[in-house]
Amino acid sequence: APAETPQVVIDAHGLPYLDKKLPVRKRVADLVSRMSLAEKAGQMTQAERGAVGTGGDVAAYDLGSLLSGGGSTPTPNTAEAWAAMVNGFQLRTRATRFQIPLIYGVDAVHGHNNLAGATVMPHNIGIGATRDPRLAEKTGAVTASEVRATGVPWDFAPCLCVTRDERWGRSYESFGEDPALVESMETMIQGFQGRADGGDLDRGDKVLATAKHYVGDGGTTYGSSTTGTYTIDQGVTTVTRQELDAVHLAPFGEAVRRGVGTVMPSYSSLDIVGDDQGPVKMHANGAMINGELKGKLGFDGFVISDWDGINQIPGDYASDVRTSVTAGVDMVMAPYAYKEFRDDLVAEVTAGRVTQRRVDDAVSRILTQKFRLGLFEKPYADTSRIDDIGGAAHRAVARQAAAESQVLLKNDGGVLPLKTSQKVYVAGSNADDLGNQTGGWTITWQGQSGTHTDGTTILQAMKKAAPDATVAYSKDASAPTAGYDVGVVVVGETPYAEGIGDVGNGNDLELTAADQAAVDRVCGAMKCVVLMVSGRPQLIGDRLGAIDGLVASWLPGTEGDGVADVLYGKRPFTGQLPVTWPKSQAQLPINVGDAAYDPQFPYGYGLTTLTKTPGGGAHTLTALAAAARHAHDATAGRALVGTARLIVQEKAGGTVTPGWAKPFATADHLALTGDYAGAIAQLITAYKEA
Ligand code: BGC
Repeated sequence: APAETPQVVIDAHGLPYLDKKLPVRKRVADLVSRMSLAEKAGQMTQAERGAVGTGGDVAAYDLGSLLSGGGSTPTPNTAEAWAAMVNGFQLRTRATRFQIPLIYGVDAVHGHNNLAGATVMPHNIGIGATRDPRLAEKTGAVTASEVRATGVPWDFAPCLCVTRDERWGRSYESFGEDPALVESMETMIQGFQGRADGGDLDRGDKVLATAKHYVGDGGTTYGSSTTGTYTIDQGVTTVTRQELDAVHLAPFGEAVRRGVGTVMPSYSSLDIVGDDQGPVKMHANGAMINGELKGKLGFDGFVISDWDGINQIPGDYASDVRTSVTAGVDMVMAPYAYKEFRDDLVAEVTAGRVTQRRVDDAVSRILTQKFRLGLFEKPYADTSRIDDIGGAAHRAVARQAAAESQVLLKNDGGVLPLKTSQKVYVAGSNADDLGNQTGGWTITWQGQSGTHTDGTTILQAMKKAAPDATVAYSKDASAPTAGYDVGVVVVGETPYAEGIGDVGNGNDLELTAADQAAVDRVCGAMKCVVLMVSGRPQLIGDRLGAIDGLVASWLPGTEGDGVADVLYGKRPFTGQLPVTWPKSQAQLPINVGDAAYDPQFPYGYGLTTLTKTPGGGAHTLTALAAAARHAHDATAGRALVGTARLIVQEKAGGTVTPGWAKPFATADHLALTGDYAGAIAQLITAYKEA
């Protein structure tokens, strides 16, 4: 039973913390000063919505938060039902002493992906391939708007993992293998949250973001455990201090500068070479959470544990509670163990093993975000934006993202773009499968093959793009007889969310036997293009010689039209590899900068079908931006940035006014880090303002 029975005050108006005119800091201090220990511990507790039934325990345990874990959806799975569900839980808080609203969280990692009918973006690996920070921001903004419209103010995204070994089954949640690339895509945080000072959070179309998983989730060592081979997910990251800072920590520094509201520790352990400590579970890592994140980086949001993550700390649950909270975890995702967590925390504080000060700090951090989100004033869903969910405007952004994420790896004889007059033979496991094309974290946690939501498959989109031509289809490429101008074979992976990837496909980056046969049959019979629809590179090996075109399509989401756009030349191919494409499984792990580096395609590789360079002003800048995404060496990149600067300065009559001095400075900074596309995007902003 709860330690204290809360006194029910149906309307708490009149207390200072409810005064919107007071600064957030004062409201927080007032509220914290009134709360009991049990109420504070409750604020630090997050339960899975499926564990609390209709929500009686929300009030009984003063819960601070609920989540929908992957695929934990209301029935029916509609936007209206989501809003009603969240509202119902919020209503429960009205029966508590201080009526502190819940902060409800979901994994909207590529659109509001749990909700049927929502707009599903490419997974992060594809976003990294776009090299387009503004687009990353736009996808974040669409996601935020769809999520908030259903009453959910918090998103456990983006994942800032820097993937270093694609045998890791969460590689597709990464923007790429290069920390500078990951950092440049963190504009997505602004898309989610708006302004870095949190000033947009109560706007009704923004959500609190989560930088995850802190830190080193993408750097775990394959086969590092003594108990098994496949421990790469949730395993141990062994790095030098220098490598930790440069590769894995840097993106979190950037997230803090961008004002990210929450950070989630990683399930993995961190083992810093030479510190004599051995591997430390991140949920217990006070040096990294208190010391580095909150101390050195100055993170002032709150730390949310991963799903039952504290339970992986050695020792009993009470000691897990003590260790994690003391290490700096502010809210614990205790999906089914929420009573135990709340009660153990109360007991640990009462016994003096966790300080009251630490608890007050944690609760203050949580309440600060709740005030910023405007939840005290508007705890319920504002359903006025519900009709936009999955609407044309949002799908247009996803379509653009799908198009820009396509990486052209081979294009012999200019087989791409296709002509709408050509007779095309389409084949392969992923040509007509919305589930495979959207991947994990879609409708269900692991995702699933087949049609589970609204969208357009690549095959359907191709038929739309070439309505007057023959677009024939055979999944297994049976009888690809003559008479076709070109074959398009779409192969790759089936969906998975965490772990080591699509186990059914053999734990490796090899294509399945069926996929290999489809490629061989089609490419043996006609000119052909192969599309890899997958969360990570798929080995093509010696087959490369037998095919004319190769495209890395990643997991493009619900808008197959974006893929058809580049296939048929409606938009140019401009994507670049976010990870190195290996020749063989034996090369793994392989990353740019390795001493021996002999991949099939290097990091950053990507051909373009961009042909037109319209003259003058904004058009020139747009062309420059596209070219910047293909600047493989620093000299070319800097020359492009230099040219863009001249164009902007010319437009402004040669003077740098304070208004656009900032984009200029940012551009210089980005150019310095090699992000030429980002630099030119900044200059385009300056150009428009000039
Ligand atoms: C994942 C997190 C996710 C959490 C909540 C965990 O299994 O590692 O990325 O946010 O579940 O669904």
